[in-house]
This record gives sequence, C-alpha cells and structure tokens, in this order.
Amino acid sequence: MERESMQYDVVVVGGGPSGLAAAIRLKQLAAKAGRELSVCVIEKGSEVGAHILSGAVFEPRSLDELIPDWQSKGAPLDTPAKEDRFLFLTAGRAIGMPTPRVLHNAGNYIISLGNLCRWLGQQAEAAGVEIYAGFAGAEVLYDEAGRVKGVATGNMGVGKDGKPTENFTPGVELHGRYTLFAEGCRGSLTKTLVERFGLRDGVDPQTYGIGIKELWEIDPAKHRPGLITHSVGWPLDRGTYGGSFLYHFDKNLVSVGFVIGLDYRNPHLSPFDEFQRFKTHPAIRPVFEGGRRIAYGARAINEGGFQSIPKLVFPGGALIGCAAGLVNVPKIKGSHTAMKSGMLAAEAVMAALGRGEGAELDDYPDRLEASWIWPELKAVRNVRPAFHWGLWAGLAYSGLSLFLLRGREPWTLHHKPDHASLLPAKSTPEIAYPKPDGAISFDKPSSVYLSNTNHAENQPVHLVLRDPTVAIRVNLEIYDAPEQRYCPAGVYEIVEAAGAGPRLQINAQNCVHCKTCDIKDPTQNINWVVPEGGGGPNYSNM
Ligand SMILES: Cc1cc2nc3c(=O)[nH]c(=O)nc-3n(C[C@H](O)[C@H](O)[C@H](O)COP(=O)(O)OP(=O)(O)OC[C@H]3O[C@@H](n4cnc5c(N)ncnc54)[C@H](O)[C@@H]3O)c2cc1C
Ligand code: SF4
Repeated sequence: MERESMQYDVVVVGGGPSGLAAAIRLKQLAAKAGRELSVCVIEKGSEVGAHILSGAVFEPRSLDELIPDWQSKGAPLDTPAKEDRFLFLTAGRAIGMPTPRVLHNAGNYIISLGNLCRWLGQQAEAAGVEIYAGFAGAEVLYDEAGRVKGVATGNMGVGKDGKPTENFTPGVELHGRYTLFAEGCRGSLTKTLVERFGLRDGVDPQTYGIGIKELWEIDPAKHRPGLITHSVGWPLDRGTYGGSFLYHFDKNLVSVGFVIGLDYRNPHLSPFDEFQRFKTHPAIRPVFEGGRRIAYGARAINEGGFQSIPKLVFPGGALIGCAAGLVNVPKIKGSHTAMKSGMLAAEAVMAALGRGEGAELDDYPDRLEASWIWPELKAVRNVRPAFHWGLWAGLAYSGLSLFLLRGREPWTLHHKPDHASLLPAKSTPEIAYPKPDGAISFDKPSSVYLSNTNHAENQPVHLVLRDPTVAIRVNLEIYDAPEQRYCPAGVYEIVEAAGAGPRLQINAQNCVHCKTCDIKDPTQNINWVVPEGGGGPNYSNM
C-alpha cells in the first residue's frame, strides 16, 4: 500500500530535550529572519514526556539561552538544589566524602525531566511546531543520491505474524529538507545511520550505563527539598562501575536510582537487584520507611563522553543530544548539553538554508566545538575510562584529573565496547540476591506495573533476534542467559517445555524501552526496533 507523505523544512525525530530545543530554536530563528519554516517533531511515546526517564538535577544554562523568561512562562523548575552529599557505602556504614567539584549543584534544580519536556512541547507548539506523539520513526528514507530525505513512521495494525490486520494503517513518510535525529541514547534509527555513513570511524566505541529509577512519596518529616545525595561502593564490587542518586524534590517526592556501567563482567549480576539491595542499606532504608513507591522505570545512559562522539553530520541531517552521546559523565548530566546541541544544529540548519538547496550541515560540528559543550566534555574525558582500573584507582585518578590537572592531561584514555566485557558464567561467582521485602525492595513484575507500560498485544515482537539459535547456543550455554538479569523489565525468560529443551521467551509487552539488551547482548544478536507507535512506558513525573 502506498504511504502518504508530508513535506517539511525540518523533521525532528524524538521529542526529548534535544529535539524540542532544536524545534523551538528553529522557529525563533525563522521568526527573527521573517521567513516561514515548517518543523515537525515525532515522538514514539503516547505523549511528549511519556518515555523520558532521567535523574534529574538540571543545569539551566541552555534553557536560559533558549527561553530566558522561562520562570514567568511557568517552566517546572520548582526545587532549587540546596545541599550536595557524596557517600561511600560499605555494607554497614555510610562514609561522607568531599563532593567532587563537578557534582556541586548550586544554581541547578531538581526536576522531572519528563515534565520539563511536556512544558517545552507546549512552548514548541505555541511557536508553530507540529508535534506528533504516538508516532515512532521506523525507517530512514533516502533519495536516489543517498541523501537522507526524512523518515517513515511505522505501520499500525500489523499482527504478530507480520500480516496486516483489519486495523492496518500504513505509516506516513515525513520528508524534510533536513532531518535531525534526537532519539536519545542508543537510538534505533541513529544506529542504522552510524552504520551506513560510518559515523563511528576513527572514534572510540560508545559505552553505556543502565539507570534504574523509582519515584517515592516519603514521610513529610523526612523530606528535605533540594537535598542531593550520590553514593559509590556497596552493593557493587570494586570492579563494577556505578552508584546511586537520591534527590528530594517537591511535594514530598524523592527520586532514587542506581546507574551501573554496562561494561560489567559478571553475567550473574542483575542491575535491578543491585538497586533493590541498595535501598536496604541502613543509611538509606530509613528515608523510605513509611513512604510509598509511586513510579518505576529504566533507561540507558551514554558514558563514552568526548572520545566517543561520532561524526555528527551526514547528507541531509545531523545527530543531536544523546543520539550524539553528549553526556558529561562525572556530572551525571546530559540534558543541558542535549538542549544546547539541538540549538546549535538549528542554527546550522538556518545557515544551510541560507546557502541554498541541498547545502549540508557541515558547520554544526564547528559550532559545537566553538561552544561551551566542547571544553566541558573534553575536561572530564578521562574520568569514566579510569574506572576500568577499579573503584579505588578510578577515584584516585578522577581526583587528580578533576581537581589538579583539570583535564589538561596530554593523553586520552580509551573505551572498549560494553558487549565484549562479559566473562563466561562458569568463571565468575554467582550472586545471591535477597528476596524483596515488598516494603522497600520489590520484584520486577510489581515494578513494571508502576511504569504503566502498554503495548498492543497483536504486533510483531520488537526485540529481533538476528539468529534465534544464539540465545541458547551462546547466551545460555556460555553466559547463563544474562538477558534474564540485565533486562529491568523481565522481558527475557528461559523456559523449558517437557522434552523440548530450553528456549528463550520474549515478553515484549513488558519492555520499558531502556535499550540495554541492544547494547549488552554479548554477540549483538538482539536488535531493538520500534514497536507500534505509542507503545511503551507511560511515565509521569520521571
Ligand atoms: C537514570 C538517568 C539519570 C540521569 N540523570 C540526569 C541528571 O540528573 N541531569 C541531567 O542533565 N541528565 C541526566 N541524565 C541524562 C539525560 O536524561 C539525557 O542526557 C537527556 O535526556 C538526553 O536528551 P535527548 O533529547 O538527547 O534524549 P532523550 O531524553 O532520551 O529523548 C529522546 C526522545 O526521543 C524519543 N524517540 C526515540 N527514538 C524514537 C523514534 N525512532 N521515533 C520517535 N521518537 C523516538 C524517545 O521516546 C524520547 O522521548 C540521566 C539519564 C538517566 C538514564
Ligand atoms: S527488552 Fe531490552 S529495551 Fe526492553 S526493557 Fe528489557 S533490556 Fe530494556
């Protein structure tokens, strides 16, 4: 069936901070130049913000530049950061440590990034941007010369068997003179662009962490709006990178989460269970006693930093935000750089339009290099890779690099791809996780329930195994099926039918779109593709 097409000047794929900042800036620049400019944003979540999961401590620098009067326009930045704490945890103790300078948050705000995106979406629409939520970019479109000419949204109403049902509606082609990819960390279309245009040639592999988060309403007597606590150490072993965040924001709410580097080596490790165990620490448990868990979710975060930034432009478009991997890892912040990169790409689009039809966005990387993003990311480039030597060496090196050398080392440390780091299950210790108590720690099904995840039942599985036999032959036999543990939503299960041997069951309807399986599968056999638009988690206040 023929797909309808719609023509825009700029198509933005992804309604997160980067995509929305790009769209708003485009409209601002067009208004200033007195010209018409059509901009659309597509978002795979059921609404803008539905798939956004972040900490979040927000550095308002880019927002100040984009919408200087955000305060009077009601931006949801209501809890100024008041106090930073940094803890080293052992099984029984919490030892206060000096907070690294990069984690000083004076001037920042504790927010729900999802709510900020909802507000940015309103600002974008007020400026004339067309936003289509519930539409996932499923395919990149190219013209005869191989230039990106837009994206197609996925077909709706395709059955489990891949055949059209009576509700079939073909996807729509969105053609743009320029297409900006703002899919965030490990974007599924971005991945195909990286491959097709060799965007990672000559740079380090991108590396990642998995962030698992809960939102709690706690006893008002224990609530300290503006308090920001980070921890390292227990329950992780010294060779595994990771730590917790705990942010008190408004209305007695606390965001608590745990990030674990996906370069971990022990296939028995379960990031979900490490997080649950963390909350039972004697210094942490009291915060949540008497409280109520109200939301749950998970999302991968880029950790490659400066040396992993790919080539950012290709014929017809550019990568922005976490699709480009612009997270400042020791700061644990990427929304300010995401927004700024979107704004810079918008400026490059306007400049290219001025140069005539078909001009490329070649000066976007130059603009990025000339902006504050570049020195900020360059200065911290060696911190994350130093943790490949373990926690103590990593902390010692980061202290030296951040406090003394300030990133001026004449060398750059490098990364290896996360999927290559697992050791065979036989050579690593098993980990016995305590049973959840149902008060502070929980199991996966009750957690996924709180993510409000919903996928139409009758649709093709969006977690595609390149070779289905690998799931048993390699994953189970060598690594004891690690996807059963690293998936924070219980999507993957090894089941045994009598006499039929083990097989991998994929409960795709539970997927919270964190992208961890696409990253961590040891042979890269799992390919995450977009499900039917609108499917996935429905996060509020995350
Ligand atoms: C656990 C955790 C804690 C964090 N804490 C902080 C913090 O405290 N402070 C901070 O500044 N940063 C933090 N970050 C990082 C921050 O969230 C990201 O840097 C930021 O969200 C990146 O913005 P983005 O627009 O590039 O991508 P995203 O925010 O990921 O947005 C991408 C959007 O695109 C949509 N999308 C993806 N693919 C498609 C498609 N094919 N079609 C249509 N739509 C699509 C997604 O649904 C999503 O809405 C944290 C991240 C995590 C995971
Ligand atoms: S299936 Fe993959 S993307 Fe979905 S929740 Fe599990 S690990 Fe994350």
